[in-house]
Amino acid sequence: MGKLLWGTPKDLRTLLCELVSWESRTLTEGEKEFPFKVENKLKQLDYFKQHPEFLALHEADQGRNLVMALYEHPKAADTIVLISHFDTVQTEEYGDLEQLAFRPEELTKKLFERKDDLPEEARADLESGNYLFGRGTMDMKMGLALHMALIEKASTENWPLNLVLLTVPDEEVNSMGMRKAVSELVNLREERGLSYKMFFNSEPAFSQKPGDEKHYVYSGTLGKIMPAALFYGKETHVGEPLKGMTANYMASFLSQAMEWNALYRESDLGESTPLPVSLQQKDLKMQYSTQTPYRATALYNVFLMKRNAAEVMELFEQTAMQAATMCNTAYSGLCRREGIEGIGEVQVLRFEQLLKYAEAKRGVRFVSKLKAEILAHPEWDEREKSLRIADKLMIQCHELAPAIILLFAPPYYPAVNSSEDPFIMECIATVKRAAAEKGIEVDQVHYFNGLCDLSYVNYSDPGNGWSSYERNTPVWGKTYSIPFADMLELQAPVLNVGPFGKDAHQYTERLHMDSAFVHTPHMLESLMKSLCKKVLETVQ
Ligand SMILES: [Zn+2]
Repeated sequence: MGKLLWGTPKDLRTLLCELVSWESRTLTEGEKEFPFKVENKLKQLDYFKQHPEFLALHEADQGRNLVMALYEHPKAADTIVLISHFDTVQTEEYGDLEQLAFRPEELTKKLFERKDDLPEEARADLESGNYLFGRGTMDMKMGLALHMALIEKASTENWPLNLVLLTVPDEEVNSMGMRKAVSELVNLREERGLSYKMFFNSEPAFSQKPGDEKHYVYSGTLGKIMPAALFYGKETHVGEPLKGMTANYMASFLSQAMEWNALYRESDLGESTPLPVSLQQKDLKMQYSTQTPYRATALYNVFLMKRNAAEVMELFEQTAMQAATMCNTAYSGLCRREGIEGIGEVQVLRFEQLLKYAEAKRGVRFVSKLKAEILAHPEWDEREKSLRIADKLMIQCHELAPAIILLFAPPYYPAVNSSEDPFIMECIATVKRAAAEKGIEVDQVHYFNGLCDLSYVNYSDPGNGWSSYERNTPVWGKTYSIPFADMLELQAPVLNVGPFGKDAHQYTERLHMDSAFVHTPHMLESLMKSLCKKVLETVQ
């Protein structure tokens, strides 16, 4: 048995720094190049020299690829899928140190020279010498490094189980990589006759509050969905305000009703979702004029635990109806006071209703042409395209105004939870034991609060809630889709065990080195070996 490439803490540190040095911010050239570099790195392993067919790149979109590497034992069917993402968020917040964001060793040294500028906790961590700073160290190139080390060890020592290493782009924006990977996972399973036993991610463990140094493992992940609205009022001149209704006036009622609305809070296993907030609210007036803004949009963030898309749309509609009633009551009071007739009552429509109306009025071909024109603008993101499609349809159907059109804007991350799965309970017990051997206390959290790609496996949706999502997402099937059918195929519990770090997405992003290079590798190896033992018992 030869020496392992990534078998010691020192080797892991070098590997991590190399992965970080391959900058791969979402939607940059680096993100496109990264998978080829990982592929080359994995080709250094004897196993993939002998089995080049088990190492493959698959295109996600726009020249971005995901990497899939399979280690297969001839006697094992049980397969653990190791999931990571290799894209990172942007780096502007590093300021003049931006060049060093991808050179952790240098950055950590450089920060020492200006440690007094750092927030208190980050400065103390820097001085402790226990942390390595840099973009992607924590979120989540260390997770990938750990998976690479696992597959190396498994293949060198001939572990009796199968591992799929899957690393994807675009997790930080739209999860295009993982949504593509779902179908590839189904294909691979069919081709090789695998049985997926667990989907295992190594997103970093986040502290739950400032100063919290506990190491958490996660047996599920929160979901997220974005209800959005187009407000379509009636234009007028500022000199005659009573002749119209601004979209801003309408929007103010819904935003009041949505933000912090406790109806959207879900609780499960002693944990709760954060409350909804608005992510954006703007009018669609491109330049200043004395015409009043009569079209506006709003985007809301809603976290999920159990609810599916159909249930959120129901709830959103209720909230919007109440907001419209409040708006109509206030407006009719104003009409009485001013002795005017008014422009009519605000009504609430789902996007699917507007679409049906528009198709009946203008024809299906006209409507799909209009959609295609908007989708042809690469400079607009999925959210802007969604709202613009609703807007263009309303322009064709302005007799429906004043109206609030309800829709979903991408992305959508369904919630997943395996806390009550006996296999996951056992896995967590094993991880806790392994951590205790290193003097580390591990706590379980039921829902990972950072959002992650586990959302796209182990899907269950008894009420077919996804169909409501499809019908009310204007860009559905064109520039955005979710492989719900394939997700239903990937039925296996989920678990996330990753290294401890702090301040993901901030310039003080840092990784706890003992956790990353010593404790977590031990936890992961102990877990995988305990699974091997089980496989051996069933084989014999
Ligand atoms: Zn991440």
